[in-house]
Amino acid sequence: MSGLGEFELIARFFTRPTLERQGVGDDCALIDVDSQTLALTTDMLLEGVHFLPDVDPRSLGHKSLAVNLSDLAAAGARPRCFLLGLALPQADEEWLFGFSQGLFALAQRYECALVGGDMTRSVRIGDASGGVAISITAIGDVPRELCRGRSGANIGDDIWVSGRLGDAMLGLEIRRGELDLPEEQRAECFRRMDRPEPRIALGRELLGLASAAADISDGLLGDLGHILDRSGVGAEIDTAAVPRSDWTRGLDIATQRRLVLTGGDEYELVFTAPTMHRGAIAALATPEVPLTRIGRTEEATGMRLRGEDGKLIETTLRSFDHFAPRT
Ligand code: ADP
Ligand code: MG
Repeated sequence: MSGLGEFELIARFFTRPTLERQGVGDDCALIDVDSQTLALTTDMLLEGVHFLPDVDPRSLGHKSLAVNLSDLAAAGARPRCFLLGLALPQADEEWLFGFSQGLFALAQRYECALVGGDMTRSVRIGDASGGVAISITAIGDVPRELCRGRSGANIGDDIWVSGRLGDAMLGLEIRRGELDLPEEQRAECFRRMDRPEPRIALGRELLGLASAAADISDGLLGDLGHILDRSGVGAEIDTAAVPRSDWTRGLDIATQRRLVLTGGDEYELVFTAPTMHRGAIAALATPEVPLTRIGRTEEATGMRLRGEDGKLIETTLRSFDHFAPRT
């Protein structure tokens, strides 16, 4: 057993110097191939960890690819193709039909072709059945001169987020019976949890405007924290400015903060940009995907959070970490 968190484990065991343009520690690796730069990313989804066993297979097919395309969006890459690794307890054709329909519906929208993969039965020795495991590797391309990662934030940059945060986690908590909302709002939270929309168009429009970007898969604090760490800057965040749905706004303030600051599975983009690009970035906002300034980067490292009254708040809130010691 180890007391190290997910990112400390990666840093200790799987981070080596590389000659590639960008390697471990970012949303995508960036690999120069002749005049092209390819963006590569891989994400795993495990039954019982990332999805509930009774999830609709169509939604699961969509989400498995969406979480990977979301990393391409963070890098500003255009999706090209993907590989699919699948471990299944049994070949359930009805399940596979639904899964493939959801997967290809999203793939076709981005003209991202499935070009290979691997399949295996997931049986543990001496056990009747294993769970479903999905591993997708997605490949995109990005203009070399506009490549961006998590490390380019400068002191005094604005910090922005796309969309509204918190509803995916709200969906999970409703499913767990921990919270409840009226039917229409519940359905919207489930949609956010089951059918995240990778912000590919926005990611590409931000090329040349954003200095650094990440997608929010583990929670705003954690994913923004990666940008700050890798850029060697700190930040001040106005927590009241973090965008959220009207129904989230109706919840008590502690719950709101927990949802919008630590809720994972959002697949919105958090990014930094010089203040001179404010107008150009604001012009990219749409009713479906608003863009909101939530703070500024600063020289002093670490993150300072201001509450509704403008005062600094102390918090023990943390983003999701697969290996964080359970308290
Ligand atoms: P994301 O959520 O954007 O997919 P993570 O935050 O999960 O990325 O991972 C952080 C970084 O560590 C990424 O650059 C990822 O590629 C890398 N990484 C994660 N696990 C491993 C591993 N086992 N070996 C090498 N790199 C890894
Ligand atoms: Mg990511």
